[in-house]
Amino acid sequence: MKYELVSGLETHVELSTKTKIFCSCRTDFGGEPNTHCCPICIGLPGTLPKLNKEVVRYAIMAGLATNCEINLISKMDRKNYVYPDLPKAYQISQYDLPLCKNGYIQLDSGKKIRIARIHIEEDAGKLVHKGGDVYVDYNRGGVPLIEIVTQPDIRSSEEAREYVEKLQLIMRYIGVSDCKMQEGSMRCDVNISVRPEGSEEFGTRTEIKNMNSLTFMTKAMEYEKNRQIELIENGGKVEQETLRYIESSGTTESMRGKEDAHDYRYFREPDLVTIHTLSEEVENIRKSLPELPTARIKKYIEKFGISEKDAESIVKYKNISDFFEKAIQGIENPKIVSNFIIGQIFSTLNNEQEKESFDIKVSAESLNELCKLVESKKINVGLAKSTLLKMLETGKNVSNFISQEDMQSISEEKLLEICKKAVDSNPNAVKDYLSGKEKALKVLIGFVMKETKGKVDALNTQKNILDTIKNI
Ligand code: ADP
Ligand code: MG
Ligand code: ZN
Repeated sequence: MKYELVSGLETHVELSTKTKIFCSCRTDFGGEPNTHCCPICIGLPGTLPKLNKEVVRYAIMAGLATNCEINLISKMDRKNYVYPDLPKAYQISQYDLPLCKNGYIQLDSGKKIRIARIHIEEDAGKLVHKGGDVYVDYNRGGVPLIEIVTQPDIRSSEEAREYVEKLQLIMRYIGVSDCKMQEGSMRCDVNISVRPEGSEEFGTRTEIKNMNSLTFMTKAMEYEKNRQIELIENGGKVEQETLRYIESSGTTESMRGKEDAHDYRYFREPDLVTIHTLSEEVENIRKSLPELPTARIKKYIEKFGISEKDAESIVKYKNISDFFEKAIQGIENPKIVSNFIIGQIFSTLNNEQEKESFDIKVSAESLNELCKLVESKKINVGLAKSTLLKMLETGKNVSNFISQEDMQSISEEKLLEICKKAVDSNPNAVKDYLSGKEKALKVLIGFVMKETKGKVDALNTQKNILDTIKNI
């Protein structure tokens, strides 16, 4: 029998507000253990939480950017469980009135992965295992999170990956999180079940907790899918449980039986008031949202005439797209700029990591300056390319490689004169060309380029050379 994968994702995204969700401690990653803490975020009795308004605003931004409706009346609830990373023995989260609901993210295929809800909550501390001992670091305790929960709409590990990549990019564009999976500011819980192809009913699901890399997430999903299929084929039954993925062996193992909502004894958080949001506030946030990745891709293709592939490779990295937006200021044809980014600049970036951090020695202003020289035909593309490579290597500006004199454009008469000189001084090349060796033309064009230091347009040069030869 053929089986189909069914999956829904619960993604935690750490918000990059300056302070924590219920106190004024710092949220930055790292730092000496237990130094970003206060009586509130380590849960001492007698303290009272106060909701950080910025957290609500960030969560609404995230909701609007993923096509959600915003609940104008919302509230916080206690989720009770005992674990050493949670000193209060409850997490303040949201249960039945999350801030956002009913959104979606659209995949390239056009398919929509529906988002059931986005709620806000506090992060727990971190357990550190060292030499047989377990330590706890509460710096992360009380850092604001949003949890984005999809409907079980995902049908393959590729769809899951694309969904997470799109979500990550949207969150980065609106600036609510850096979404670094390796640092834990974005983590996914993956729910998985299988069912016979064509069946409408859902199978029993397992949940793999805390995936912090897309590669491992994909591998874990494939493994778990096959494990469940094999189990069912052999007459067994999938147990609803919570799993952990073991990176070294590529397998999953049981952490605990799956808890249900009633196990958490959810109840309204009595120390916090209802969250009322005005619809005008929501509209103001909507207006203030920056341009989203899909809108940028559309603009690059339709308005700038950039190919879909190139538009996507630029928009995929927020740093690069922002750099591009700056570098095209005052440029008529932005394609000149995108070609340099995808050609010369990308050739110096060796992997995804380097593209993401985009730590290059050339500023957007400097690239802009170079592109303007090309656009005004002061230098040709070939010279601009080699100059850009030198700029990338040294961090120096255009003026260090191309002098004022070099930039003086060459008049048509002057060009014709140099072309005549090229023909006069290379009789053999002319003879070769006339006897049918097309390639010989390159020698003549090369001569002109050398004479003009690459300032002239190659096509125009070729035309002038051919005219000259015709008139011999
Ligand atoms: P809980 O609150 O118990 O975790 P939810 O109904 O909120 O349960 O679902 C959590 C996640 O599990 C959601 O992303 C949902 O899409 C997904 N999910 C629910 N049922 C299934 C299923 N049968 N197979 C795969 N994923 C599922
Ligand atoms: Mg869950
Ligand atoms: Zn604190």
